[in-house]
Amino acid sequence: MTSSLEGKVALVTGGSRSIGAAVAKRLAADGAAVAITYHGSPDKAAAVVTDIEAGGGKAIAIQADAGNPDAVRSAVGKTVESLGGIDILVNNAGIALGGPIGDISFEDYERMIAVNVTGVFVATQEASRHMKEGGRIIHIGSSMVRYAAFPTASLYTLTKGAAAGFNRSLVRDLGPRGITVNTVHPGPTDTDMNPDGGPVSQIVGPGMAIGRYGKPHEIASVVAYIASPEAAFVTGADIVADGGFTA
Ligand code: NDP
Repeated sequence: MTSSLEGKVALVTGGSRSIGAAVAKRLAADGAAVAITYHGSPDKAAAVVTDIEAGGGKAIAIQADAGNPDAVRSAVGKTVESLGGIDILVNNAGIALGGPIGDISFEDYERMIAVNVTGVFVATQEASRHMKEGGRIIHIGSSMVRYAAFPTASLYTLTKGAAAGFNRSLVRDLGPRGITVNTVHPGPTDTDMNPDGGPVSQIVGPGMAIGRYGKPHEIASVVAYIASPEAAFVTGADIVADGGFTA
């Protein structure tokens, strides 16, 4: 699939680390010019850009808190200005605050909604205004919307379910313009948020049908297919990449 994205521009939110960084590098390897946003990790964002440039690709990093609608709109605008348009949006930036339902603070609730839901809505709305025929909107959801194996994640699953549900009618808004909208649902994947060997892995590890955690590049390869011209007929889909965790 190398070079299948030649001439395309992608924006990956939360591209400084983990799954987002792997997606940005994969889309760049496939030929796209890539913008990433970051919030708290400027050095890691710069390293992703350097890595892509070292491989002959084009990339920029933009500081934009996904929970700040003005910053998100501005990041889409900077992508279009600097790279000449936007063809692919990957709504990856996400956080996982939570706890037992009775203990969740309203501040945490508001922050989760701001980053995981409002950030997705605003980026999608703004990017869709610029997208042309062949555009791709890809949300990173979670296999937890299918099967929540442990308590304390109700707030997280609320936000991920909202982002996945957003697809449903959006495909009909954007389908006539030749733009697809899909959600990729990773299962347990070895990242800073959910390290293999960390507390979540103690609980979910035995449920992994393939007997191991996923790796960020394995999620990136699914995203790359959905982003490619080959996936033009795939829209409104929930694509689960979870090592059989929710099978
Ligand atoms: P990490 O916490 O390891 O990385 C998160 C990335 O998102 C970082 O690049 C971070 O950038 C960025 N980010 C976080 N908050 C913000 C913000 N407010 N504004 C902009 N960027 C932000 O997470 P993962 O890679 O594990 O997760 C990526 C996505 O995949 C998330 O949506 C997550 O919910 C989802 N997911 C992950 C699973 C897993 O097992 N790992 C399973 C299912 C879904 P910075 O450091 O610069 O702030």
